[in-house]
Amino acid sequence: MNREVILKVDNVSCSYGQVRAISEVTLEVRAGELVTLVGANGAGKSSLLRCISGVQPTNGGSIHFNGENLKGKSAASRLIAGISQVPEGRLVFADLSVEDNLLLGAYRATKSARRAAFDRVFALFPILHERRTQLAGSFSGGQQQMLALGRALMSSPQLLLLDEPSMGISPIVTQQIFEILDSLCASGVTILLVEQNATAALVLADRAYVIESGRIVLSGDGPALLNDPRVREAYLHG
Ligand code: ATP
Repeated sequence: MNREVILKVDNVSCSYGQVRAISEVTLEVRAGELVTLVGANGAGKSSLLRCISGVQPTNGGSIHFNGENLKGKSAASRLIAGISQVPEGRLVFADLSVEDNLLLGAYRATKSARRAAFDRVFALFPILHERRTQLAGSFSGGQQQMLALGRALMSSPQLLLLDEPSMGISPIVTQQIFEILDSLCASGVTILLVEQNATAALVLADRAYVIESGRIVLSGDGPALLNDPRVREAYLHG
């Protein structure tokens, strides 16, 4: 595959006070790829996604998106540029309806772009259409994950950052969500996926990076890493 690099993370570090969360991380994502970042609890996966979406400041290194240096750009301007994040824990607004949660993802769009975004999201997730007037708080974890994903898609992103979409949801719903990610990717959305469910993520991914204690320690094709003894021992439980 020889597609254009759309995201380039070069030697990026970030800290919370004295706690160094990621150290000199370098990775790239090409247009149309699904790349996964695998690592244990506390390895720095969420921090890296947050640095890319701009909600966490970096202290060192650079991040380029479509060739543009993101230094100094707010999370809002990165969203406008085409980077959309589904945060860990989903963070949907329980007291708002499905439609209103989705609207928050498209607050800058024109009326016709919003209509088109609703149509796309409802086609991907018919359950959200069926329950569009209901409050998000009445949803199961899996449905909330679909809503969070739908909300992130309302801005028609070029790059989707996904933080642990399988957390707290059943294997069947996880499988459904992963199938949707696969079809999103086939439709041209580029995905950087953080997952603790390493097997499922590596099966799906074009390429993967393994992060340990804030540093990238391995990278390669998804299927190759799935068979790598170091990955099997540390993350795949046998
Ligand atoms: P998890 O899967 O548990 O979310 P992770 O791989 O996403 O783990 P991070 O959440 O990025 O890892 O955490 C990386 C390091 O930064 C850990 O040592 C963590 O304790 C620390 N850390 C994360 N968030 C904060 C914070 N708000 N304040 C202080 N330290 C933090």
